[in-house]
Amino acid sequence: MRRLLLTLLVLLLTTSLFAQAKPTRPDLIVVISIDQFRYDYTTRFLPYFSEGGFNRLLRTGATFTHALYPYATTETGPGHASIGTGYVPARSGIVANDWYDRISNSPVYCVADPRSKGGFSPINLAPDSLGDRLQERYPGSKVYGVALKDRAAILMAGRKATAAYWFDPKAASFTSSSYYRWNKALVESFNATVRDFIKAHERWEQSPFIPTADLARITHDPESLRRFKTERYGLGVGFPHPIQSAEALAYTPFGNQLVLDFAERLIDSETLGTEDGAPDLVFVGLSSPDYVGHSFGPDSLEVADSAVRTDRDLEHFFSDLDRRFGTRWMVAVTSDHGVQSIPEVARDLGRDAGRVSMKNPNASARTFADLASERRELEKRIAKKLGYVTTDASPIDKTFILHFEEPAIYLNWTRIRRLKLDGERVKRAVRDAAKELHGVSGAFTNSELMASNPEASGVELAVRESFRADRSGDVLITLAPGYIWSYADTGTTHGEPIEDDQHVPLMLWGNGIRAGKYDDRVAPTFLAKTLGAILGFEAGGPETQVLPCVAHP
Ligand SMILES: [Zn+2]
Repeated sequence: MRRLLLTLLVLLLTTSLFAQAKPTRPDLIVVISIDQFRYDYTTRFLPYFSEGGFNRLLRTGATFTHALYPYATTETGPGHASIGTGYVPARSGIVANDWYDRISNSPVYCVADPRSKGGFSPINLAPDSLGDRLQERYPGSKVYGVALKDRAAILMAGRKATAAYWFDPKAASFTSSSYYRWNKALVESFNATVRDFIKAHERWEQSPFIPTADLARITHDPESLRRFKTERYGLGVGFPHPIQSAEALAYTPFGNQLVLDFAERLIDSETLGTEDGAPDLVFVGLSSPDYVGHSFGPDSLEVADSAVRTDRDLEHFFSDLDRRFGTRWMVAVTSDHGVQSIPEVARDLGRDAGRVSMKNPNASARTFADLASERRELEKRIAKKLGYVTTDASPIDKTFILHFEEPAIYLNWTRIRRLKLDGERVKRAVRDAAKELHGVSGAFTNSELMASNPEASGVELAVRESFRADRSGDVLITLAPGYIWSYADTGTTHGEPIEDDQHVPLMLWGNGIRAGKYDDRVAPTFLAKTLGAILGFEAGGPETQVLPCVAHP
């Protein structure tokens, strides 16, 4: 009897000890970024989600209802750099998708690397990433980025990534660059299946996941406004969308399946997630929802269908990982930015909205008349403020703006010096003239942004968080909610310091994550520090925090 009691006591003690022990570290961490997936998609389309996709995260994971990017340039490059490194663009160096280089006098794409075969690498990325730190802590760890878009895969995976893989739609194949020691055999064997995949998806039909009766309530897609959708690669502007090429497929939700299939193949062939004490990290960028959103707009039937199909793709992917890794894996899901309505659709809904065109003139432009509408207006206003008179007939070499790369104006310094004008005076004139344009919410000179301002808040603070003096331009402009930088008369975009663009989902699931709904004001930049804390090392920017869902930080 005494022995029995003793055994019971020992049993009780050990179980309570185990209950208090730290949860075991995951062997595989998957971070999924759904490109252009606004926060409200997780609530608007919630009734139509499967059991095991977003609902797994919503019911048994941690969900953050107020995760907003704290910076202004809510674009794909800055977003994925933020997710991968935990630093805002001012510190990650990825201030926008593209910026203008004053030495070579040409635009620079954020992941361009002329020295690498394949053309892309993370050379422009400044800080250590989550993956870099993981590999310092656990030398056996492997870190990968996989996406349709090169910049998503490369910027999340970081500088020391084992490899990053992306899709070349023209070649209908996944690829990488000489920056990485990538697995050519894996890529070639996967690429051999792509043609058949496209053939098996020759049409995008509306799925049955949303009952027809509900569609009108959760979308705004009247026949009369379909001409404001962008027609690409023969897809048309209404269901069913014929798919005739890999380019077209990327513009449908089927692009997600291609990326997730590749990610699974990668996890298998590189034997990731083994119990070797060195956790592996895979970043997955689902880029297709962004292409769908740009073309058809967030209020469209297409975006609704894309969201519920993405949910099924996640369900399928999650259950495959469950089968392989049980509870030894964890997942974080977020997005690189949101999106705004197609301006014509927003106006049809009674909102103030519009397109602002600062498009760079092409080589054949001769006079002010050849400039895009707001660009011409801005040039005239700048000239007037500086005491010059210009008309539509003025020659193009009388312009003060050399180049526009949203959100920044790069000034024509050769002309400013020739005219012996004070540079600061010119910048202030450009700033003030920009503020007079309809749809503009703010404008800042780089001198203002280089001077510290501890009082900065709102739009100004957001602009500061995505400003780096050597890349960001002379005058930075932000647009009011509803307004977009426009390069065409159709479709829509994102990239502003407004809620529609900044507010995204942030969800975590796995061992050591306290399930629940968290209303704390957080940012996707917190993910790096949070995952670092779970894995036992420091990562992410100094202004970020460990998310409160971590059970034992
Ligand atoms: Zn994006």
